[in-house]
Amino acid sequence: MKHIKDLSFTSEDLLNIAEEYGTPLYVYDAEKMKIQYNKLNDAFSKVKKLKLNYACKANTNLNILRLFRAMGSGLDTVSIQEVELGLKAGFMPEDIIFTPNGVSFEEIREAVKLGVKINIDNISFLEQFGQELPNYPVCIRLNPHIMAGGNNNISVGHIDSKFGISIYQLPHILRVIENTKLKVNGIHMHTGSDILDVDVFLRGAELLFDAAKGLKDLEYLDFGSGFKVAYKEGGAETDIEYLGEKLGERFNEFITNYGKELELMFEPGKFLVSESGVFLANVNVIKQTTSTVFAGINSGFNHLIRPMFYQAHHEIENISNPEGRSRYYTVVGYICETDTFGSNRKLNEVREGDILCFYNSGAYCFSMSSNYNSRLKPAEVLWINGEAKLIRERENLDDILKTTKIIDF
Ligand SMILES: *Cc1c(COP(=O)(O)O)cnc(C)c1O
Repeated sequence: MKHIKDLSFTSEDLLNIAEEYGTPLYVYDAEKMKIQYNKLNDAFSKVKKLKLNYACKANTNLNILRLFRAMGSGLDTVSIQEVELGLKAGFMPEDIIFTPNGVSFEEIREAVKLGVKINIDNISFLEQFGQELPNYPVCIRLNPHIMAGGNNNISVGHIDSKFGISIYQLPHILRVIENTKLKVNGIHMHTGSDILDVDVFLRGAELLFDAAKGLKDLEYLDFGSGFKVAYKEGGAETDIEYLGEKLGERFNEFITNYGKELELMFEPGKFLVSESGVFLANVNVIKQTTSTVFAGINSGFNHLIRPMFYQAHHEIENISNPEGRSRYYTVVGYICETDTFGSNRKLNEVREGDILCFYNSGAYCFSMSSNYNSRLKPAEVLWINGEAKLIRERENLDDILKTTKIIDF
């Protein structure tokens, strides 16, 4: 019985689950999510008030939200729908923070009605908010303009980024606060995914501390996310212990000077759920061309878009032929566009009908899936206490027809 990485299930378990629920299929390990949550919590053990808000856009299955709530997590949301899902999952409004970008002011009003924490990321809305709702506390999202993140698509702190209010506009922010008597209870930065250099992160944190000094009503400082997890065997990941040590120390020093106990917040998505998930797909066809052996699976970028969208690397394993000899394959999908999951991958001999397992499929995989090519979205299974529980059914044709209106002509 071979365990899949450090997850709770074995490849035999996965083959049984695939047998029962069919493929393509997402399977998540609840225990691994808990391990990641505790790891981050423990790294900041020196900080008296630490709050982790699970960034649920990574994986919005209601059961996963409920799991994080049970662990004591808060929730980071980026749309009013995510706020509503959070409330449905049982989060208290004050445990949900709404951190949208580019939404309408009306959507922010709706979130206020639901009583959640509000994070504002442009001066125009800050002014409107201050005039309309001066007594409802808000958080301000700052852009510290530090270059972090491994990839332009997910690096959101740089100078031309659409995210946050530039740290250089702090004087303008302060004028808005003074004019409208706005109550600012938090400040926030989120520099983008994949932070490998903790010292770069700490430089951004210093800018946040600097800005925080001038704000008198603060209750929390939110350092966003950007924790990288390893996508390859031995791949680099954020040194959480080092970050916890350094930032924790610095935070404690800051609040001593500030003169008030503040809460330190993070909003990790990927770190909490990426590694917990695997994606299972069946091999439909093996096609040998002059230079390449293609393994074509019963899925595509409609189900797992990260390799094509971000050039993300997902490890692939042929779990149904553990004794097979290694050969090289290019794993592709069935979408009528190029959709390559991995080029030139060494896999145990792949036969038509085999099941391939894609690692790191817990974050930004199902939640970014679509119905392109009129394909149905896969089912999702949660492995919890040694049992497989179906947490989302596979779609059927009625699901994709549900919103269609047939007209007469
Ligand atoms: C997406 C997002 C996160 C989570 O980022 P990860 O890289 O998944 O940890 C956190 N905060 C905000 C505001 C986000 O938009």
